[in-house]
Amino acid sequence: MYPFTYTRVSGTREALAAGREGGRYIAGGTTLVDLMRESVERPGALVDISALPLHEVTVTDDGVLRIGALVRMADAAAHPDVRTAYPVISQALELSASAQLRNMATIGGNIMQRTRCTYFRDVTAPCNKREPATGCAAREGVNRAHAILGTSDACVAAHPSDVAVAFAALEANVHLLGPDGARTVPFADFLLRPGDTPCREHALGQGELITAVEIPAHPRPLRSGYLKVRDRQSYEFALTSAAVALHIRDGVIREAKVAAGGVGTVPWKLPAVEQHLIGERPSESLWTAAAEHAADGARPLAHNGFKVDLLKRTVERQLRIVGGDA
Ligand code: SF4
Repeated sequence: MYPFTYTRVSGTREALAAGREGGRYIAGGTTLVDLMRESVERPGALVDISALPLHEVTVTDDGVLRIGALVRMADAAAHPDVRTAYPVISQALELSASAQLRNMATIGGNIMQRTRCTYFRDVTAPCNKREPATGCAAREGVNRAHAILGTSDACVAAHPSDVAVAFAALEANVHLLGPDGARTVPFADFLLRPGDTPCREHALGQGELITAVEIPAHPRPLRSGYLKVRDRQSYEFALTSAAVALHIRDGVIREAKVAAGGVGTVPWKLPAVEQHLIGERPSESLWTAAAEHAADGARPLAHNGFKVDLLKRTVERQLRIVGGDA
């Protein structure tokens, strides 16, 4: 470890002032503390924001669900409004990490968590994300767990969050508060693909805070669920995953929201799959045909070509689970 300052703030104004001066926000700390121990991150000042009033889950009269940035993963998963309206969110959270981590980690921190690329966490390895212009050890190294979608020459790391996949599928918005006031960013624009600058991972400006993630109202009834495929059944990141939400009325799919995890440098929305489903009647052949589009544009690496077929099968299976008995 190395010296750093730690300040616990109780108000938003105080937090923003500390953030403007370069302080690094911390809440659950389940990623950041690990990275500091490994010297991957070396913030000079930590600003503990866990006392800020961002711990609520609310639903408006017109059905908009808002999850405060500091709501713990376990609490969000168990909240009756989340469980009832969006099983896909509850399931994604409950399939993440371990019970201990879910009791500590927050929704805001979860979507900000950094990649599990082993080279990123090994300070002796070249890594453009950790240290710009040093290279990417994963490209020619062991890349079985890495991304096949949204990659660049500079970085092929997969985004690790499960609930972010559900948020991408449901077209969430991220509410931010910074020195210049509040703003809202569509989830699709919040997490950034690596491009030439893999060290830039999100749309937060200097000193900005996430205050909430908001799920817009979707037509009812909405069936949804999350499927995660991994090497072992607990405390493991996804090789592939699928978040699916379907609005089926009069036997016809009116809306389809589908995204994949474990395969993209960001949670990967699947518009071609969605378009294939909308206006159709659920059937076995439909699930298979729609899922064929799940890996459109994939660029596998030496060790992760299996993800192309695994992704298609994951999406197909989850479409069948969510919509199969319509
Ligand atoms: Fe670093 Fe990205 Fe390459 Fe991993 S994949 S070594 S995070 S640049």
